[in-house]
Amino acid sequence: MKVLKFGGTSVGSAARMKEVAKLVCDGERKIVVLSAMSGTTNSLVEISDYFYKGNTSGALEKINSLEQKYIATIAELFSTDKYRNECAGIVRSHFEYIRSFSKSVFTLFEEKAILAQGELLSTAMFHLHLLETGHNSALIPALDYMRINKNAEPDTAYIAEHLPKLLEANGKAEILITQGYICRNFYGEIDNLQRGGSDYSASLIGAAIHAEEIQIWTDIDGMHNNDPRVVDDTKPVRLLHFEEAAELAYFGAKILHPTCILPAKLNNIPVRLLNTMDPSAPGTLISNRMGTGKIEAVAAKDNITAIKIKSGRMLLAYGFLRKVFEIFESYRTSIDMITTSEVGVSVTIDNTKHLDEIVNDLKKFGTVTVDSNMVIVCVVGDMPYENVGFQAQVVNALKDIPIRMVSYGGSNYNISFLIKAEDKVRALKALSKELF
Ligand code: ASP
Ligand code: MG
Repeated sequence: MKVLKFGGTSVGSAARMKEVAKLVCDGERKIVVLSAMSGTTNSLVEISDYFYKGNTSGALEKINSLEQKYIATIAELFSTDKYRNECAGIVRSHFEYIRSFSKSVFTLFEEKAILAQGELLSTAMFHLHLLETGHNSALIPALDYMRINKNAEPDTAYIAEHLPKLLEANGKAEILITQGYICRNFYGEIDNLQRGGSDYSASLIGAAIHAEEIQIWTDIDGMHNNDPRVVDDTKPVRLLHFEEAAELAYFGAKILHPTCILPAKLNNIPVRLLNTMDPSAPGTLISNRMGTGKIEAVAAKDNITAIKIKSGRMLLAYGFLRKVFEIFESYRTSIDMITTSEVGVSVTIDNTKHLDEIVNDLKKFGTVTVDSNMVIVCVVGDMPYENVGFQAQVVNALKDIPIRMVSYGGSNYNISFLIKAEDKVRALKALSKELF
């Protein structure tokens, strides 16, 4: 069985939902994972924000305007009063539930319950639309099988145990619809897989049922070889290895959430990126196959901060790096890139929440310099060191760009550069010109 995930834009209006329905109803049994309609999760975050601040009237105003959007969508989505009214009742009950939080104390727990409403709404609407158009569909509630453990990591054993039972109980249904993003935590409370987490849901579902393929449907024809917002004439990459796709997703390719790769890779399930606007286009296939000796793509990650620690004490010493890393660990801040010399080390982070504390602690070990507003440019492909020449080619493309850090050799799949944000466009264009 295949797992097909559709993002917020793909279900962003009644017309788009109808398109998706046509796409999935081809007589083949499948799991369909949906995001919330585009903009909804952001609105729910905003509503929660008003509740946190105790501004009930602000929250109610936002709730009302979001509800209006749903009422308008329903009017267009259904052609019979029977289904329109049934759906309106469901939508109303979700919005009443959201409004009910104006009467309680508002904590993270309430916020997560509110954030879950977007996917519950989109899937309920889509399910009713399929029923109205004569299809055999069933709703499989994610809250009944998707679960994270005490460390907020997916409880894969729990998912693999409970999801197949639910699928079996709906054995006759052709289209099995479920929510992306939402789950329960270790204590059984409503939780989520973090923003953009629907891709992760699809991948976890695919892994749990040993799916034949996981398809991520968006509105672009696959992962491109450079950022299409910055560079003209980018092209979709047809074939990527799991490792290459993971690097690209992590270092900026927005089309796929980076967490999506691991469950698919561990279970060797191909992931196909497809385009709802052009369903017959081949898209990108991510699998354990590798295009040999090829540089495939470039991606860039913004808002990077570099921290350099220089110390005479590092010379010929051991344990210095451990002490440095422990500081980052104690502030739960992950390091993306690292370069070292005999007397210093530079690292990059993208989460600057604890930057001041980190810098303060690092000063015990050396002289600290911070460069903010930097960008990591990541070049991805099949690049084992025995392949001569690709480093020169990449460096040559960037010959006019000031480069703060270079990293190669952590894997066979990427070379990364740290540059100033102001040089990003120039760098991406130069790389496209030289490499593709
Ligand atoms: N609706 C959630 C979000 O906007 C999850 C997702 O779309 O992947 O973050
Ligand atoms: Mg997404």
